[in-house]
Amino acid sequence: MTEVIRSAAALREKVAAWKRSGMLVGVVPTMGALHDGHLSLARAARAQSDRVIVTIFVNPMQFNNPEDLKKYPRDETRDLALLEADGVDVLFAPGPDEVYPEGFATKVSVAGISAPMEGAFRPGHFDGVATVVSKLFGMTQAGRAFFGEKDWQQLQVVRRLVTDLNIPVDVIGCPTIREDDGLAMSSRNVRLSDAERAVAPALHRAMQAAAEAIRGGAPTGAALADARAAILAAGFGAVEYLDLRHAGTLEPIDRAGPPARLLVAAMLGEVRLIDNIAV
Ligand code: AMP
Repeated sequence: MTEVIRSAAALREKVAAWKRSGMLVGVVPTMGALHDGHLSLARAARAQSDRVIVTIFVNPMQFNNPEDLKKYPRDETRDLALLEADGVDVLFAPGPDEVYPEGFATKVSVAGISAPMEGAFRPGHFDGVATVVSKLFGMTQAGRAFFGEKDWQQLQVVRRLVTDLNIPVDVIGCPTIREDDGLAMSSRNVRLSDAERAVAPALHRAMQAAAEAIRGGAPTGAALADARAAILAAGFGAVEYLDLRHAGTLEPIDRAGPPARLLVAAMLGEVRLIDNIAV
């Protein structure tokens, strides 16, 4: 049975009892509308911890676009059934007032690594992420936390924040889970029309082609320009960024091989898709 907990106080009591008996607690922070990507994190948590908490909180502070927040898919009943099936111990699903009670005044901001790419196109987004993740670590007191590589920049921001604030949690990055056609799973994919869904895999295809070209010695600038053109030609409305960067520092880089990472964000109709791969 997955127990649903909505208050931080009740969660704290539960976790304190687990910890008294020496258990390692794993947490998987999510915004719900769960798919196999999320569930792969829950399974990793199950395998690497004694007790598993999945959190579902659609965090208003990390949405720079009110329309995106309003349209974000929510289905807690379905989510709970999926978590039950995966043997998750607790679903922590606090309301906004539990997370941001009256008088809330603190913001966690990770400089540098938050600035480019997502940070440039979604101002304030990573402050919202860093703040809510810090709070979730405080509320869950977990020893291990599982994040997807799908949100590569977010994973680096969380690693930085945990180091900088001496938060006693091991951050574990888990590989991106994809549909058979290569599209990275995302809660936002359900908002794609059938026609857009057919176009969507072009994003990953173009990235793979660019990665291959760069590995084969093509100039990075030319390979990225070709990929941009291919993404737009497939039917995407805009490519916000398509950058080759150092996987850890996120500084621009122009050679293939570790630690090079190719990261992209592009608009397909009204839906913003992101992806990244090693080069
Ligand atoms: P979200 O609900 O989108 O905030 O995502 C919650 C967690 O699931 C984050 O750590 C994401 O990186 C991770 N995640 C989302 N999509 C995927 C995916 N396709 N594969 C692996 N992890 C994912």
